[in-house]
Amino acid sequence: MVCLPQPDAETLARREDIRAALCAIVPGEGVISDQDELRPYESDGLTAYRQMPMLVVLPETVEQVSQVLRYCHANKVRVVPRGAGTSLSGGALPLSDAVVLGLGKFKSILEIDYDNRVVVSQPGVTNLAITEAVQDRGFHYAPDPSSQIACTIGGNIAENAGGVHCLKYGLTTNNVLGVEIVLIDGDVVRIGGKQLDPAGLDLLGVVVGSEGLLGVVTEVTLRILPRPDTARAVLLGFPAVAGAGKCVADVIEAGIIPAGMEMMDKPAIECAEAFVGAGYPLDVDALLIVELDGPAAECDYLITEVEAIARANGASFVRISQNEEERLRFWAGRKAAFPATGRLAPDYYCMDGTIPRRRLPEVLERMGAMSAKYGLGIANVFHAGDGNLHPLVLYDANQPGQLEKAEAFGEEILRLCVEVGGVLTGEHGVGVEKRDLMPAMFSEVDLAHQQRLKCAFDPDMLLNPGKVFPQLHRCAELGRMHVHGGKVSFPELERF
Ligand SMILES: Cc1cc2nc3c(=O)[nH]c(=O)nc-3n(C[C@H](O)[C@H](O)[C@H](O)COP(=O)(O)OP(=O)(O)OC[C@H]3O[C@@H](n4cnc5c(N)ncnc54)[C@H](O)[C@@H]3O)c2cc1C
Repeated sequence: MVCLPQPDAETLARREDIRAALCAIVPGEGVISDQDELRPYESDGLTAYRQMPMLVVLPETVEQVSQVLRYCHANKVRVVPRGAGTSLSGGALPLSDAVVLGLGKFKSILEIDYDNRVVVSQPGVTNLAITEAVQDRGFHYAPDPSSQIACTIGGNIAENAGGVHCLKYGLTTNNVLGVEIVLIDGDVVRIGGKQLDPAGLDLLGVVVGSEGLLGVVTEVTLRILPRPDTARAVLLGFPAVAGAGKCVADVIEAGIIPAGMEMMDKPAIECAEAFVGAGYPLDVDALLIVELDGPAAECDYLITEVEAIARANGASFVRISQNEEERLRFWAGRKAAFPATGRLAPDYYCMDGTIPRRRLPEVLERMGAMSAKYGLGIANVFHAGDGNLHPLVLYDANQPGQLEKAEAFGEEILRLCVEVGGVLTGEHGVGVEKRDLMPAMFSEVDLAHQQRLKCAFDPDMLLNPGKVFPQLHRCAELGRMHVHGGKVSFPELERF
């Protein structure tokens, strides 16, 4: 179980004063303090962890966000920014002595500029709503997390969200051109904009993926792309996982970058098929869904190439979508795969790690062995093209000890990802979930330097503390800190 920073008793004692001050900044129904009404905020998509926040504030204007942060900074109150609360790494998990700052009221698209192919939006707009706003003119916003009907564009920026089509079109970081961000002292800063190559340091790259630790995003400028002329999906079934894994690497090696290349193992295929009837084969051990897009002639050519590579790797089932309805049906199974695993177990723990593509067969085999070791089932549904695994560890939270086993299983999977040359996260972020595993990937010196960047934005560690970094260093000390031989300086400081 992860530990969070100890609540500050002195802050909790000031709860009523803090509530009154926030009500003065955001009048009306802008502050939630009633225990029943706070309940919906007690967790995010990582529901295994829950904690009630001290208060929730729902500002409606940038000026209110600025005043809330200025107040919290002056009064040393911790703040947890929150979009739709779909984070799977516990990024929006509240702290019991913190104010949750919800961006749910920032729901407007501010500008659609087709000449420059950008959309300027408030952060509380859902990912899908961006595409819906421009699709009549033949455009779309490419990053498409499976949670796109619910998750917000602000949350996408904080987590550097990905999705099926990010293999070809890039993650959030490749599709954001600018942000307005409010710093903890209330300053409003603009970084980037409609131009492609802004001057100065690449602070945008720092902000994207910063998990609510550096500031609160209040406006985003996003790149939109024309929809491709044609998109066709191919289902490829393999009698062995190894063949599917090798096919993925061979397709990329051949110089083909599909719009998406997803993989599902047998348990995932079976429950997704039973859930939506997508037309998946049930006599295979692994299924690839490969989407090719572009001009029709290019699509046809690439489909032939992909099919040949798949057959050379032992594919026993090939079906090519013949129309848009069939293409969407192929994807419907993949998109419903997470909820469909509810047929296999009451709970699942969704992991997120990335590995080099060539190691897929070996890693899947080793995860199978872990499943036997822990006595817990596993289903795999993932972005195979970019090596981004999403093993779903199946468990029953009502059975004593199963959550702890699922956590241990998940940790072993992530350590395996690092061991084979991969990374701890692909798109869900570190949050609280992977925080304590950061030393498996980064040295103490690496982590200290990352924290110094955090200190430049938030010297009092008030924004989303307890997330991402396995230790809380005091910034003044970090500034002159020299870590030697892995020895932790200042042992009296709070460690989780
Ligand atoms: C069923 C399901 C499927 C999913 N599929 C995918 C997927 O395919 N790809 C993927 O990448 N993710 C996926 N996710 C995870 C999640 O949807 C993403 O991480 C998403 O980007 C979170 O957005 P949110 O608005 O819900 O943010 P929240 O969960 O509210 O917050 C996430 C983090 O962002 C910070 N934050 C939120 N808004 C702001 C802001 N305005 N300014 C600063 N910080 C902010 C929070 O502090 C927190 O650290 C999935 C989740 C679920 C439940």
